[in-house]
Amino acid sequence: MQRINTRSIRFRLTAWYALILTAALCIFSGLVFAMMEQRLMRDIRRNLADQAMHFEHFVQLEASEGPSVNLYDEIEEFCHALPESSYLEFRPADGATPFRFPSSARREPPFHYEVVTRQVVAGGRNWILEIGASRGEMHRALELLQALLFSLVPVVILVSCLGGAWLSRRALKPVDDITSAARAISIENLALRLPPPGTGDELERLTETWNATLARLDSAVAVLSRFAADASHELRTPVAVIRTGAELALRRDREPEAYREALREIEGESERMTQLVEDLLFLARKDARGEGMPMGPLDLREILNDAAQELHGLADAREIRIHVAAGTEPAMIAGNTAALRRLFLALLDNALKYSPSGTDVSAAIVREDQKVIAVIADQGIGIAAEDLPHIFQRFYRANKARSDGGHGLGLSLAQSIAVAHNAEIDVTSAAGSGSVFRVIFPERLHT
Ligand code: ADP
Repeated sequence: MQRINTRSIRFRLTAWYALILTAALCIFSGLVFAMMEQRLMRDIRRNLADQAMHFEHFVQLEASEGPSVNLYDEIEEFCHALPESSYLEFRPADGATPFRFPSSARREPPFHYEVVTRQVVAGGRNWILEIGASRGEMHRALELLQALLFSLVPVVILVSCLGGAWLSRRALKPVDDITSAARAISIENLALRLPPPGTGDELERLTETWNATLARLDSAVAVLSRFAADASHELRTPVAVIRTGAELALRRDREPEAYREALREIEGESERMTQLVEDLLFLARKDARGEGMPMGPLDLREILNDAAQELHGLADAREIRIHVAAGTEPAMIAGNTAALRRLFLALLDNALKYSPSGTDVSAAIVREDQKVIAVIADQGIGIAAEDLPHIFQRFYRANKARSDGGHGLGLSLAQSIAVAHNAEIDVTSAAGSGSVFRVIFPERLHT
């Protein structure tokens, strides 16, 4: 048998319902009983008052007919017309022999009788009339009512509780359905959705909210697993290059120079791999914690200068000149130095990677409408219109054939750093005509 969960809404609803219903029915029964008793009592008293009045008229009429009439005999006649179990005593006020009906009655009426007493003047004498009726009938009626209430009220309560339990089970069935559907959803089948109960009520809204949350989770998990798959894919290539390089070198004895060459190749690949793993870690941390970079006031000119300085060697090797025009005014923003350095390194590195030798790369800072804008422009191969919308996606590379050592993570890194700084990156480029990347920061006015 199913155990009753006393903390379930269904149980509590039914229990409260039963409690309130019982209290209401008890009050109702008590009121009905009291009203009934009052009503029956009033009827008895009213009947007695009527009978007393009739009797008075009757006695006065009989007495007025003179002494020839035996008053007590006439009264006896009158009494026979009274309802069964009536009691009547009619006695002269001077204490002479009284008349009693039924004649067997004792001096006092039985205790369960309701009695009315009147003074009557008839035939010139003062009389005292006591007329009574039994309350037995009334008590029997009330006992019957009590028995009815005692047997019916529990039945009504029981039936209502069963009905209440059934109703609350029906009302809460969608909750059970949602619970078991939700239980079936795990990371493997996040595409499942909860069945909408179609009730148009709070439960329907709850289900919709749940489904929207599931959809968001589903796409977040999809992004993460695609990221993990791409990352493993990217790591496979350098690992394979390192392994085959080492295997080949070891296959037979070689000159020291050949070993050196093989080791240099391995070193180069390991460097690429380290860079890739670092970028991945950076992105993964940002994914997991939202951002997590401490921000402070800084002058963007210094960071841009540092990044350009760091790439001077590489630029020289490629015979590309980097011009920095950072201006004389401080360019203050709120940001994280290490992250912004990384952003500029990624943009400058791309500008160098995708430009032919003999060209110029310029890095400038301009200020406009409370914005600080870093502009990095090159005269390189440019980006085709169909690639432009995708270049910020992770692992996206427009020139897949080129082996420049890029993993397609530079711009997505730059983008996520920009977002963490409330900045935007926009690109103007076309195939063959160079590219201009603009990073637009909100200016920090109070240093
Ligand atoms: P990668 O490591 O391949 O450079 P990024 O995310 O930095 O990856 O850039 C994505 C793609 O955008 C690059 O593969 C390249 O095709 C294109 N791209 C980025 N910057 C430039 C640029 N300055 N000139 C031309 N193409 C660029």
